Amino acid sequence: MPYVREIVQDGHPTLRRVAKRVAPAEIADPLFQQLIDDMFATMYAAPGVGLAAPQVNVSKRLFVMDVHDDEHEPAVVINPKIERAEDEVELNEGCLSVLGYVGEITRFATVAVSGLDRYGSKLHIAGDGLLAQCLQHEIDHLNGVLYIDRARNLRPAVAEDDDEDEAVAEAASAGS
Ligand code: ZN
Repeated sequence: MPYVREIVQDGHPTLRRVAKRVAPAEIADPLFQQLIDDMFATMYAAPGVGLAAPQVNVSKRLFVMDVHDDEHEPAVVINPKIERAEDEVELNEGCLSVLGYVGEITRFATVAVSGLDRYGSKLHIAGDGLLAQCLQHEIDHLNGVLYIDRARNLRPAVAEDDDEDEAVAEAASAGS
């Protein structure tokens, strides 16, 4: 049975390590499959749209994501590589490992990523919007990078009276 693992917070050393590549032979290991299932359970419980293994204190190159749209299924990506990145966009962003904050960051608007799925088969994901943002955010985690390293106007994600602030708080709570 999958269980919800603890999400480590900014200041934990695992978040700052460059995570190790996963050996393809390891993917079929029941313990590795359990890790994937636990990461999905942890992401949904948070709730968030993505979660990288270092956030549950496992320094390996994989992440899970579910951007909740009609075009993209929930996915796990092992040993991801950015194949293409185009155009830039300014976005609000939050992170499950930096709870309670939101900031503005420049991201690529469209990205294409390759990697392996949970069966060890080649996988390609490409898109824009939240999908592209999430892919970049999770791959940063695998390289020991947090969005706060580059964010501007970092501020507490508190909902205030006007709608704009509430929208920002929502974006932060949908962190990864
Ligand atoms: Zn994050």
